[in-house]
Amino acid sequence: MNSNVRFVLVNTSHPGNIGAVARAMKNMSLKQLYLVDPKCFPHADATARASGADDLLEEAKVCATLEEALIGCELVFASSARSRRLSWPTLTPRASITAISEARAGAAVAIVFGRENSGLTNDEIAKCNYLVSIPSNPQYSSLNIAAAVQILAYELQLKSMEEQAGKGLQVEKTMKTVRLVTSDELEGLVGHFQRVMEELEFIEPGKPKTVMRRLRRLFTRSKLDVDELNIFRGLLSAVQNKFKLLNNNT
Ligand code: SAH
Repeated sequence: MNSNVRFVLVNTSHPGNIGAVARAMKNMSLKQLYLVDPKCFPHADATARASGADDLLEEAKVCATLEEALIGCELVFASSARSRRLSWPTLTPRASITAISEARAGAAVAIVFGRENSGLTNDEIAKCNYLVSIPSNPQYSSLNIAAAVQILAYELQLKSMEEQAGKGLQVEKTMKTVRLVTSDELEGLVGHFQRVMEELEFIEPGKPKTVMRRLRRLFTRSKLDVDELNIFRGLLSAVQNKFKLLNNNT
């Protein structure tokens, strides 16, 4: 299961932290490192702190946006210490890893980590299915990014070893025939909803924030599959066509 899990670091400032993350991942047999718009990369400090995990740095995928880093992912976690105004389903690291192990075999999964100084924005969190929060001292809750990565990577390793050991004893995973929507497909659906809602003047163009975020939360929570996505896309297109027809006739 671990080979399908990517660790995504958003806007990391210190290259040394990127190296330390690579090391933490390699220790736990993880390979897929994605860097969204890193401040300084590649950098000698990253290589030094990776101490032998520089193969992960060489193969790291550098992306311009978070959306790009999440392409193809069916399950996305945002790692954060802070509670937000807009509540988002929140899991412990262990519960997150259980959710990963219960996902469709082969499903691409991402765990997203924020900036050292300010974490992740609400809009970035809204692109994820769950928040994952490491239980820590409420008065001093923020871990170094590589330490946070280490805890999640360790839980993944532990789960994967347990699964290996229990092979044969476990009940076969149910064969899911229809896959869940990917992060980019969900973006497409939310964008389509926004266009239709603007066309119908249900929301004011350019001021969609809260309602769109709530809608996004509904979709991520309900884990849409591709068939369900297509129903929504078809319905939205039908609404648009009817609306055009009505407008042309008046
Ligand atoms: N000052 C920032 C903390 C950033 S620490 C803030 O207030 O958000 C860098 C990243 O490490 C965070 O964005 C998060 O992805 C991860 N992290 C740190 N502490 C964590 C915790 N207790 N639980 C989950 N993730 C944590």
